[in-house]
Amino acid sequence: MTARRSGAADLALFLFGGARVDLSAARAALQEMRENRCFYCGSAMKQDPHVDHFIPWSRYPRDLAQNFVLAHNACNLDKGDMLTAPAHLAHWVKRNRELGDDLAARLSPAGFLDDQPAALQVARWAYGQAEATSAQLWVSLKYSVNADRRCVEILGG
Ligand SMILES: [Zn+2]
Repeated sequence: MTARRSGAADLALFLFGGARVDLSAARAALQEMRENRCFYCGSAMKQDPHVDHFIPWSRYPRDLAQNFVLAHNACNLDKGDMLTAPAHLAHWVKRNRELGDDLAARLSPAGFLDDQPAALQVARWAYGQAEATSAQLWVSLKYSVNADRRCVEILGG
């Protein structure tokens, strides 16, 4: 028997989600790739950054490589379970277009899922919901805006 995870296990994880796991491998890979700046505010991070689920864990409880970004603890905690404003979304789409495959290649050995199409599909669904309900989108510390059509357009919807 090999220790390799079966396709069935991957499918179960994809369908039903997993428990939160240690994200230190994700942090290390992102630090190698992204230098050490907060994804959201762009400032340098002196302390250990948080690994943020760009599409919040509460909406998509799976550790998809393409959904990880590094952020200040303060930025990440303030963002909480919110989706982000169009500028952050555009930044995330661009990051994944340019680096999503590289990120996934670094994270797959640590057991993280590689599924760029799923990341986009989940984002389209989540931002479609946000637009429909005029949800608040996180911009920066203590600042948010109402969702509008722009996010769906960024996602090609
Ligand atoms: Zn920040």
